[in-house]
Amino acid sequence: MAEAPKMRPPIESGCPDAFQYMHPLLIKNYGNWAYHDRPRPGVLHHVAKSGDEVWTVRVGTQRQLGPYEINLLCDIIDKLGEGYVRFTIRSNMEVMVSSKDKVDPLIKAFEEAGYPVGGTGNSVTMISHTQGWLHCDIPGTDASGVVKTLMDDLYDEFVKEDMPNRVHITTSCCQINCGGQGDIAINVQHTKPPKINHDLVANVCERPSVVARCPVAAIRPAIVNGRPSLEVDEKKCICCGACFPPCPPMQINDPEHSKLAIWVGGKNSNARSKPMFHKLVAAGVPNNPPRWPEAGAIVKKILRVYKQDAKDWERVGDWVERIGWPRFFELTELPFTKFHIDNWRGSRHMLNQSAHIRF
Ligand code: SF4
Ligand code: SF4
Repeated sequence: MAEAPKMRPPIESGCPDAFQYMHPLLIKNYGNWAYHDRPRPGVLHHVAKSGDEVWTVRVGTQRQLGPYEINLLCDIIDKLGEGYVRFTIRSNMEVMVSSKDKVDPLIKAFEEAGYPVGGTGNSVTMISHTQGWLHCDIPGTDASGVVKTLMDDLYDEFVKEDMPNRVHITTSCCQINCGGQGDIAINVQHTKPPKINHDLVANVCERPSVVARCPVAAIRPAIVNGRPSLEVDEKKCICCGACFPPCPPMQINDPEHSKLAIWVGGKNSNARSKPMFHKLVAAGVPNNPPRWPEAGAIVKKILRVYKQDAKDWERVGDWVERIGWPRFFELTELPFTKFHIDNWRGSRHMLNQSAHIRF
């Protein structure tokens, strides 16, 4: 038996050392795998050089799990698995077992409990979303709600591997877009500058921090009604919402003017083609909880066309690059509007171009 790797010392932030939670066979064969394959959608099979085999069952969750759901899933894993589980970066649960015989009973139990098994290979895997109202102070919409709704609609694409390549969908609840680049992204889009409650600014906001926070230098100190406050140059403002957290009296969320925007063609991977930024394809989509039907219909339409028209192994961005953007808008029947044209010349001088993050 190989010596267990030493745990790294605890640090103040970041995720804990993964080795303490790993399945013993993963520790034993760490870095010594011969090959892996996928016997069926949602199941990974890894074979080590030592001959050990590990089966991994991938389960989709509703993303935010309460005690009821966690206990339900952990009971299944303790009873039918081997007590080891990990979360992927897209919030799928992966349950590792050392014997093939345990795979089918696990799948059956998860499916009976209402949890789909899938998300591997060329499927639409779980949507990654930003922290939303759980941890962040800027959100313009619920993030997990959009994910749950869309994944309900895309259930069939999660449990099958029928897409030309894997599809990563992301959502972000503000335009800072910490959800990152996705094949398809659904992001909040504020369309009006913040409304300032001047009576509160002096008591609540640290004005220099708010001024520093604006990426286009649109905020400046002002005296309003004899009290220190702030003003926004609305010609410069790009409606990003970054001033709202340090200064809640600068309200930017608006039931009418905060919308969703859909972006297409981003990817982080450098397999087959270079990483790409996603590009705007639909603006002003209603932010319409609790089921967001308008955004869902556009996403499904894009996926349908991609599935029919892309060649094998083309990611959404590769496919659009090949057929060209005019053809993309033709096939998806999305209107091409003035909002798709990025003609803002101020970016060179105005945008913060350093990698330094200021808060
Ligand atoms: S996308 Fe924006 S609002 Fe949502 S968690 Fe990230 S920074 Fe916060
Ligand atoms: S919304 Fe963004 S661009 Fe507009 S004033 Fe606030 S920080 Fe500046």
